[in-house]
Amino acid sequence: MVTAVVGANWGDEGKGKITDMLAENSDIIIRFQGGANAGHTIINDYGKFALHTLPSGVFYDHTTSIIGNGVALDIPKLFNEVKGIVDKGVPMPKILVSDRAQMVMPYHVLFDEYEEERLKGASFGSTKSGIAPFYSDKYAKIGFQVSELFDDEQSLKDKIARVIVQKNALLEHLYHKPLLTVDGVYATLMEYKEMVEPFVCDVSAYLYNAIKEGKNILLEGQLGSMKDPDHGIYPMVTSSSTLAGYGAIGAGIPPYEIKKIVTVCKAYSSAVGAGEFTSEIFGEEADELRRRGGDGGEFGATTGRPRRMGWFDCVASKYGCRLQGTTDVAFTVLDVLGYLDEIPVCVGYDIDGEVTTDFPTTTRLKKAKPVYEVLPGWKCDIRGIKNYEDLPENCRNYIEFIEKQIGFPITMISNGPSRSDIIYRNK
Ligand code: GDP
Repeated sequence: MVTAVVGANWGDEGKGKITDMLAENSDIIIRFQGGANAGHTIINDYGKFALHTLPSGVFYDHTTSIIGNGVALDIPKLFNEVKGIVDKGVPMPKILVSDRAQMVMPYHVLFDEYEEERLKGASFGSTKSGIAPFYSDKYAKIGFQVSELFDDEQSLKDKIARVIVQKNALLEHLYHKPLLTVDGVYATLMEYKEMVEPFVCDVSAYLYNAIKEGKNILLEGQLGSMKDPDHGIYPMVTSSSTLAGYGAIGAGIPPYEIKKIVTVCKAYSSAVGAGEFTSEIFGEEADELRRRGGDGGEFGATTGRPRRMGWFDCVASKYGCRLQGTTDVAFTVLDVLGYLDEIPVCVGYDIDGEVTTDFPTTTRLKKAKPVYEVLPGWKCDIRGIKNYEDLPENCRNYIEFIEKQIGFPITMISNGPSRSDIIYRNK
């Protein structure tokens, strides 16, 4: 059976922890989109890890970890990450890389930097990992697929020569930076070939057989619904689809095989980068939530940047869950809210004097003011609780209030960063 683990919000919902947890009973875990621009933080028996490219199932010896064709594959980063976990005592994971995945080139990273430099204050807040230039090239059909590393030398050099004409025009005239050469790009690709060769696989064929054999397969999403290029807060979005539906394409499986969609939804809001964030809070109130948030504070796993903070947003989360096609909500980081006397929850958006619970397009979203309902806090530490009935009444009320507002069943509640901090709720 195929299960997708995806985010309802702006990312950083705790998908890594949920994937790591569900991976215990899975055979295969696949990354199907995004690149090394966002990170998952995982805490388990081996220690604390920030993963950027590897799927969050790499810590078990019974799993196969797959980089799907939809991923922006940064080969040196992937190999550093593997080395990083093996150096900390994790057994060498079984990794497969799709022969149809495309590679992030060093010049994609440079173009990302140069463009942010050019835009200055109007920048997108990119992590400068080359993701937007990478996907632009992929769809402009001037990217490099892993399979092309095995093409003959002359064909590959001819393609490089075609590609760098465009790149060099921009480097020379727009950015005033050093130019690319055919030999330089070819040498980089040959280095990548050496690193990736042992792992290259026809992933869709592998998965076709795995599904036939009844294997348990997890699709692991990066970021969340709000960052989807079509359905999110365009243009402050990422460059590949963050939705479970894209899992079929980014892994190469039939869409109807995705039977379960676990949408991870954080008990309060956080966001990185620029863009609309209606329930955002500021000042001391935000600082305290950031300090107490997640595991050791809400700071980016890739960049260390402080995350923007806000109260739970039912409008955005209802929409985020709907677009994912949610069958189960995993409600995470609930333990963090235990310090609050009262907890505001955004239940509607006031746009030009009219209140709506439907998430609008960005032009209208810009005008939205949050409408809050304030719920009583539970004022205690809920970590360690294993049964839903043992949660304080106000805590259960908070969960049930939000469940009603968003309209999707909350079947898992995460009350701590570890694998075992989970409460299952039968619905
Ligand atoms: P992801 O990108 O969706 O995997 O999310 P991140 O890893 O960026 O952010 C989630 C953070 O919250 C990480 O530091 C996790 O260790 C932590 N975390 C996950 N679930 C919980 C939870 O239930 N409680 C607490 N306190 N921290 C959690």
